Amino acid sequence: MSGFLRLLGIGTNDSRFSNLNVTVEIYETVIARITHAVSRSDREEGGKLIGKISENGNQLKITVETYIDSGPRVNNSIGHLMPDGEYQEAMFRVLEKFDPDIHYLGSWHTHHCNDLPELSPGDIRSYKETLNSRNYNLDYFFALLVTALRGSKTQNLYYLFFREQEHGYELNDSLVHTVSRISPLDSILKNAEEVAFAHRRNRTLYSNNVYGTKSRASQIDTGVDPLEKIRSEDQQWILGEIPWAKPRQSKKDGSIYWQWQMDSNVGKLDVYYKHPSNSPSIPAYLEILFEGKQIISEHIPLNDSRFQKIKYCLDRAIEKTK
Ligand SMILES: [Zn+2]
Repeated sequence: MSGFLRLLGIGTNDSRFSNLNVTVEIYETVIARITHAVSRSDREEGGKLIGKISENGNQLKITVETYIDSGPRVNNSIGHLMPDGEYQEAMFRVLEKFDPDIHYLGSWHTHHCNDLPELSPGDIRSYKETLNSRNYNLDYFFALLVTALRGSKTQNLYYLFFREQEHGYELNDSLVHTVSRISPLDSILKNAEEVAFAHRRNRTLYSNNVYGTKSRASQIDTGVDPLEKIRSEDQQWILGEIPWAKPRQSKKDGSIYWQWQMDSNVGKLDVYYKHPSNSPSIPAYLEILFEGKQIISEHIPLNDSRFQKIKYCLDRAIEKTK
């Protein structure tokens, strides 16, 4: 593999790709729309990248012309993003009528809101699942990750995954170029994205003001994440008390958990505070490990006394290691 692709994780390069020359062109309107979406949101945002791919001998050229946003019923927070798949699929079918040569090339999403500096294990797993599914008809999956917003510019990382290959690659910046072109499809998608954002704003206002306390039925109807309020309270508290804690997403069930280390007399303790995957009526779970062995395992009901209970468990863990 050329020196411009860095292997993710541990593993060996696959000889099938060792001579591949990859270039990526991204239309500047795509970058502009991504920057706009990221700058007005404090949650994970994203979209499906749409464009063309051409292979010629060992040359692989990916052209990202536009993207389909995450839709009116996106389920997202600072630590997760579940796009409105039905909307994205329907939108793609419409776009194909205008341009039958377009492909779904991969996706972009952002970690600007949670400071994760690279793809999460869950991100990588879902890209591989997409690539290896029968509905996906390319051998490549291109991913753009926004890691930060600095002023009016995003900081991006680029990745490429191959069908049936265990490891993905990070692409060197020099392989990715922005070109000053606009896809004719972009005006449809840009307008749809604006309508989706407006819909999301209304949905939040409606569910907060009209219903007052949210009923479970209304949350399902509107697609609002029932754990959203809990997550934002927990984020505030955790980042106040333990600024080095990191939000993560479980590979197994998609639930959000916080992970941090803390000092004890004998060494570092690993703390995991895990939210249930869907309903706030199920308690969260707190686990504390020392040298890989569990020393605390507690269910934390998601009510107002949860922070006191977490603090108590942290103190008890330190006591136990004395
Ligand atoms: Zn991610």
